[in-house]
Amino acid sequence: MPQAAAPFFHETPVVRLRGVGPRVAERLARVGVETFQDLLFHLPLRYEDRTRVTPLAGIYPGLCTQVEGEVAAAEVRAGRRTSLQVLLSDGGGRLLLRFFHFSNAQRAALAPGVRLRCYGEVRRGPTELEMIHPEYQRLDAGRSPPGEAGLTPIYPTTEGLHQLTWRRLSDQVLEALAENPARLADWLPPDLPQLRGLPGLHAALALLHRPPPDTDRTALEQGRHPAQRRLAFEEILAHQIGLRRLRAQHRRIPAPALKGDGALRRRLLAALPFRLTAAQRRVAAEIARDLEAGVPALRLIQGDVGSGKTVVAALALLQAVEAGRQAALMAPTELLAEQHLHNLRAWFEPLGVDPIWLTGRLRGAERSAALEALREGRARVAVGTHALFQEEVRFQALGLVVVDEQHRFGVHQRLALKEKGRGEGGVPHQLIMTATPIPRSLAMTAYADLDLSVIDELPPGRTPVTTVAVPDGRREEVIARVREACRAGRQAYWVCTLIEESEALQCQAAEDTAALLGEVLAGVRVGLVHGRMAAAEREGVMAAFKAGELGLLVATTVIEVGVDVPNASLMIIENPERLGLAQLHQLRGRVGRGAERSHCLLLYHHPLSRQARQRLAILRASHDGFEIARKDLELRGPGEVLGTRQTGEVQYRVADPLGHQDLLPAARAAADHLLRTAPERAAALEARWMGGRLAYGGV
Ligand code: ADP
Ligand code: MG
Repeated sequence: MPQAAAPFFHETPVVRLRGVGPRVAERLARVGVETFQDLLFHLPLRYEDRTRVTPLAGIYPGLCTQVEGEVAAAEVRAGRRTSLQVLLSDGGGRLLLRFFHFSNAQRAALAPGVRLRCYGEVRRGPTELEMIHPEYQRLDAGRSPPGEAGLTPIYPTTEGLHQLTWRRLSDQVLEALAENPARLADWLPPDLPQLRGLPGLHAALALLHRPPPDTDRTALEQGRHPAQRRLAFEEILAHQIGLRRLRAQHRRIPAPALKGDGALRRRLLAALPFRLTAAQRRVAAEIARDLEAGVPALRLIQGDVGSGKTVVAALALLQAVEAGRQAALMAPTELLAEQHLHNLRAWFEPLGVDPIWLTGRLRGAERSAALEALREGRARVAVGTHALFQEEVRFQALGLVVVDEQHRFGVHQRLALKEKGRGEGGVPHQLIMTATPIPRSLAMTAYADLDLSVIDELPPGRTPVTTVAVPDGRREEVIARVREACRAGRQAYWVCTLIEESEALQCQAAEDTAALLGEVLAGVRVGLVHGRMAAAEREGVMAAFKAGELGLLVATTVIEVGVDVPNASLMIIENPERLGLAQLHQLRGRVGRGAERSHCLLLYHHPLSRQARQRLAILRASHDGFEIARKDLELRGPGEVLGTRQTGEVQYRVADPLGHQDLLPAARAAADHLLRTAPERAAALEARWMGGRLAYGGV
């Protein structure tokens, strides 16, 4: 029976539990657990099956299980690494236990004749199946205690909190929940078709914390269990509510209505050597409408490599200028920013608009001059890197920020940006452009606070790139291909990649490769660009390559985005197995821009792992960025592809945006419905799942 006076679980502090003093409470708070409700929603990461004992005759590599047996032999083996090896036998089969760290007492205790129960992962050893560092306990002769009653939950934890502690605490809150179900409200509308056949909130929580022995463990591991689906639905819903709320908050701040007369835009379009594709026109119109409203635009522009996003961005920048505002275009790398500057200068100068340049490397008088021009409003358009948004950069009247090639630009950065330009009639509009095409449903879930436009068409006249994978043993042949192409008047890229995070090492590798290729390719002029060169020097090399004065351009992955040289029809990518598919697709997008048939050679290090082989095969078979991104998602998971790890975007606990894709539309609809009809419930759900993770100051 619910007790009227008793507090709800979201109000009951963990110190009410047995065994929680200030020290434990402080540790729990470190992982965001402060109330009974937090504990209930702190769900196990995985489960172990200690309900039964697997006979040794039935074990196989990869199995995580509990076994029992008698020590048949034990010895310390010296080798590359000294180890204690204990051979376990149960009459029907054998298993070798190996310990690389062990005490003398341990060694003495694991003597022949001793009976053990162990838990661990079975692996294939050099001679026998083995377990490395299994958990084990000694059994008294002739006695075999019962296994655990259900699957053993393993909780995400932090230093100083043991699994046993988590289990003791969750036992207590589960008991409290069973006694007072009314203290944890189920906020979901009960009649949702998506929830049909799924357990209720309380049953789902109880099951996931303490799965009974007959629980389908495979379903649990794959996230398909009905209890997980029930909670995943609620989690996605809560996530959507949070992002919608941010979005609504954002829309309450005024933004300048960028109503231009269209004159500059018309002149740009008339001067272009091509007509916009239908997709470009549609997206440009969507943007133009956004910018005219007095509400800050927040729009993601997706378009495959080469779909022509730059010119669409240029139109938006001009709209801001027409409306008497300043506009900024930000790129993730200096090289890309340079490319944009180059393009925009060529397009804008005839219109009397002179873009200025601002990167972290700009120093001294040049820098002061740029800052002053922005502050006083003489500069209407700025192009640069993150440096554009440093503290000391002030705009006179910033109306629009375009961020290129940055779907990894997280919620936090998006919000930080809007502080720029405040106080002059509102926050600037924001457009974010990306060539990583995320499936629509996923994009709408991950970026519920953004509008979405897709340029789903390439300009006419592109020739598909033929892609082949070549082992690095055949390097000579590859070099011969480069020689041939250059002799025929075409140009080539050679991209050096390294597994090391270090940019310095990448640049060094590129330098070495350029020197080497320069020697063996007599008669071919070889250029080099990497991230550590001075901007002026790099610009000089790029210009020479563009002008056809260089035959081969050796580069690091800095050329991933933005570089545009139609006469380049051959690309060599070293160590492609180390790059993500989306990145490889981006790199490859640098060729195939002219009429000439283009080729991309993936020079891989032999032998390839199975996954690497699969990935390269996908790239060879497809030219469609969307298709490639979808496969990349399947192989690597959304965290990697969406880049949430890097941006610190909020992670899901149970929901898997891929595995639970079918729940997304209904969860979105339910979020809308709750926000409209029961905002207090929506807020409670957001608090339950997101805690304060989507709260920002200064809004
Ligand atoms: P991305 O979307 O990858 O940033 P870009 O904006 O760099 O693509 O455009 C790639 C190339 O296509 C550029 O040379 C650009 O001038 C050209 N381009 C853009 N739109 C069109 C079009 N409608 N017709 C022909 N070429 C176009
Ligand atoms: Mg681009």
